[in-house]
Amino acid sequence: MNSATFIANLVCRIAAGFRLGCLLQCAAMASFVFAAGLTDAAQFHHTTGPLLHTFVEIKAYGDNQTGCVLDQAFVEMGRINDLLNNYDPSSEISAINAAAGSTSVKVSPETFEALNEAKKYARLSSGAFDFTVGPLVSLWGFNREHPGLAGDDPDARLLKQALRLVDYRALKLGADLTGPHARLKHSGMYIDVGAFGKGFAADRALAFLRDRGIPNALVAAGGTICAAGSKPDNQPWQIGIRHPRNDSTFLTVIALHDQSVSTSGDYEKFYYTAGKRRSHIIDPRTGLPVSSVQSVTVIAPSGIASDALSTALFVLGPGDGLRLIEKLPGCEALVVTAAGEVVFSSGWPQKTIIY
Ligand code: AMP
Ligand code: MG
Repeated sequence: MNSATFIANLVCRIAAGFRLGCLLQCAAMASFVFAAGLTDAAQFHHTTGPLLHTFVEIKAYGDNQTGCVLDQAFVEMGRINDLLNNYDPSSEISAINAAAGSTSVKVSPETFEALNEAKKYARLSSGAFDFTVGPLVSLWGFNREHPGLAGDDPDARLLKQALRLVDYRALKLGADLTGPHARLKHSGMYIDVGAFGKGFAADRALAFLRDRGIPNALVAAGGTICAAGSKPDNQPWQIGIRHPRNDSTFLTVIALHDQSVSTSGDYEKFYYTAGKRRSHIIDPRTGLPVSSVQSVTVIAPSGIASDALSTALFVLGPGDGLRLIEKLPGCEALVVTAAGEVVFSSGWPQKTIIY
């Protein structure tokens, strides 16, 4: 959905004089948010709707104006989506993809920042998180509304061809007097923002709210939740982490203090071929969908960090993945292996598993 469609929807919703009840939509999210704790000092407000190929929800406590500012933050996220959405031919990312192997494309400061940050996490994870994974995503049929393959698994030749086009280092970012620009070095390369776009947009929404005098808020975009400040009674925002094999059960509940949390799960998009479960996160080293992990949850200082790192750890697995997390300040992780074993980094806040 582009932002024009979203604004039209929003106007309709406001004109109808209601805010959508969000419980049903939340059920589709990877994690759930506990938002109880109303006090007399501030009223609870929230806005929600489909965006970024998922459901987005923004919550805060405040006066009568707060609900309106939350709606504006939602529109701001729609604007970011319009810049980054690689499935929207008019986005800036699509312009970079279309010009791959030829020209440099002028981009907005927001797109530049998102790509620059994404490159940082690609580097940190030695390419386990690689946003140029697009050719592999489409080779395995995960770019379709209903993921799957028409025929057999891709053969070695096709895998090799696609793998040659996956390399985050071939994204060249620069700036000159006309502003920032971006270029993919090789024709056929394709940026996929699926693993970091939601985190970036959620960070921007929190910054938008902070700039308008709302320092305590929570933004949930699919598997990524960013929390700023606390609830009015000084209680932290609390987040339930979904069980990867039972969407009505939490693995555990954590409190967030100016932090973000993201979950990458093999249950989000998957299909079966030849008796094998194929899920949507692909190892850029082998070209194959990862099958060694059910889910990874990462806590980090920002949404783009938790989003990119949860995908990176999904590829790296508990060994290399937790070793990486231990080196990153402010980051913690929980990994559920394919066998259902739950493994934590040393500073994970809540080691009680509920299920
Ligand atoms: P997430 O749910 O944040 O882990 O993102 C998963 C999505 O990111 C997939 O649906 C693909 O669009 C894309 N993706 C798959 N594998 C990778 C990877 N290794 N690095 C970056 N993005 C990926
Ligand atoms: Mg991610």
